[in-house]
Amino acid sequence: MTKYVFVTGGVVSSLGKGIASASLAALLESRGLKVTLIKLDPYINVDPGTMSPFQHGEVFVTDDGAETDLDLGHYERFITTRMKRTNNFTTGQIYMSVLEKERRGDYLGKTVQVIPHITNEMQDFIRRGAGHGTPEAVDVAIVEIGGTVGDIESLPFLEAARQMSLKAGPTNVAFVHLTYVPWIAAAGELKTKPTQHTVQKLREIGIQPDALLCRADRRIPDDEREKISLFTNVPEYGVISMWDVNTIYKVPRVLHEQGLDQMICTKLQLNTKAADLKRWDTLVSEVENPKTEVTIAMCGKYTDLSDSYKSLNEALRHAGIHNHARVNIEYVDSETLDADHVDQLGKYDAILVPGGFGKRGVEGKILAAQYAREHSTPYLGICLGMQVATIEYARHKAHLAGANSTEFEPDAPHKVIALIDEWQDADGSIQKRDEKSDLGGTMRLGAQSSDVKPGTLAHEIYGPVVTERHRHRYEANEQYLDALQEAGLVISAITQREKLTEIVELPREVHPWFMGVQFHPEFKSTPWDGHPLFIAFIKAALEHKAKAGHATSVKAA
Ligand code: GLN
Repeated sequence: MTKYVFVTGGVVSSLGKGIASASLAALLESRGLKVTLIKLDPYINVDPGTMSPFQHGEVFVTDDGAETDLDLGHYERFITTRMKRTNNFTTGQIYMSVLEKERRGDYLGKTVQVIPHITNEMQDFIRRGAGHGTPEAVDVAIVEIGGTVGDIESLPFLEAARQMSLKAGPTNVAFVHLTYVPWIAAAGELKTKPTQHTVQKLREIGIQPDALLCRADRRIPDDEREKISLFTNVPEYGVISMWDVNTIYKVPRVLHEQGLDQMICTKLQLNTKAADLKRWDTLVSEVENPKTEVTIAMCGKYTDLSDSYKSLNEALRHAGIHNHARVNIEYVDSETLDADHVDQLGKYDAILVPGGFGKRGVEGKILAAQYAREHSTPYLGICLGMQVATIEYARHKAHLAGANSTEFEPDAPHKVIALIDEWQDADGSIQKRDEKSDLGGTMRLGAQSSDVKPGTLAHEIYGPVVTERHRHRYEANEQYLDALQEAGLVISAITQREKLTEIVELPREVHPWFMGVQFHPEFKSTPWDGHPLFIAFIKAALEHKAKAGHATSVKAA
């Protein structure tokens, strides 16, 4: 029978609830348990796919093509269970499902209410996420409830959790509450009052936390922990200090040292082997002791919010670990990148253009791709980054003046990137192939496989087949592939099903490392294995750095 741990948050948001949940899951997994994580989002949007990354951070894409909260990315980086569509749901999805049932008459004329109909639906979704009743059912599901206790929005989720614990009994459900203990500099004191109040709020709705994870900028002394225990009715061993650490991969060890996984196993009556944190310790030691460093220019639009590129930043760091290098990422605002400013790219060891939507800043990205191509700087273009590299090549090497994507210029003279419905034959008729036409205008989402051309850089990295996740609408226009290839661009991977362009690259003889990929490899990188594409990219950056004679500030060990 699956056991559940609900993780709630108090006082303020952004305390790292996702990392805390993932860390607990990792500890339980290291004890031999089968674990998953589920994220409940209190907003009304049906999924984060249409939400601005400014507001919401990155949209994480699962293998099965769901657009989910970025916390699912942390989950996949911390545990081995892969996330699916059912591991993340929003209030909007719950209401949609209940309203559909109501319209179908499933409630047989009853008054449909938040309690029990909405809260029952939530419990069904939680059980579904845990694989209940299927061979995939897990031993423990960690359920992270978005928002902060006391918000109107998340109240039904908390109520659903309380009902689940009532029905399942105290040995099957545990509650962990993440709270904030601020240091007040003027008084020279840590303050526990906000924690007392947030736990009061929880207890008001019938939830007594089993453990408190107390975030603070420093370690919380025992006398303060004792005070928190007294006021919150949480035994002192359950009051756990979670101080600021220099890498998120230290969090499992911090929690384990204070007995969190043991107390959850005791509470849930789970007899397991001891936790094994060896690989976490090795990872932390690699992160903390790089032998060298590289600096990558990331040319994008959401320059001031690195949450928009969470998985990408992590993938680059993982690749650094596997090259014993610290990876510094510098954001270059593509909106300000023009012919007068492009030379600033010369100081970087490699250039990366990440995914993106919309016209703003796109000419700057095209310029960055051109700079990388002409200056033999390693280039990795991801999704939009592949599209701009293709546009650049079309304009300057294939003599297709004015080449563009119809996303930015619907009437471009050469629509080298376009929706499939916009690809035109030589006679101007719109090409519609049966297997392609339904893709036009809709997002290509989730995992798809491609065949890789032998003898290419892509083949060196991936071997004969590449399977990666997607999130985009526009495609390299098949009508221009011959012209581009004649001009020297290599199309190194084509999707197996729809025969769409997946990877473009430059031959080794003309450029040391230049690649554009239509997919998002960053979603599949883990700290353990890294990701072959990013590992190869960072290696190329290190080689370029040596050749260009760029300085390093990390002393060789
Ligand atoms: N805007 C481009 C498209 O929709 C690229 C999307 C992306 O980079 N994720 O095809």
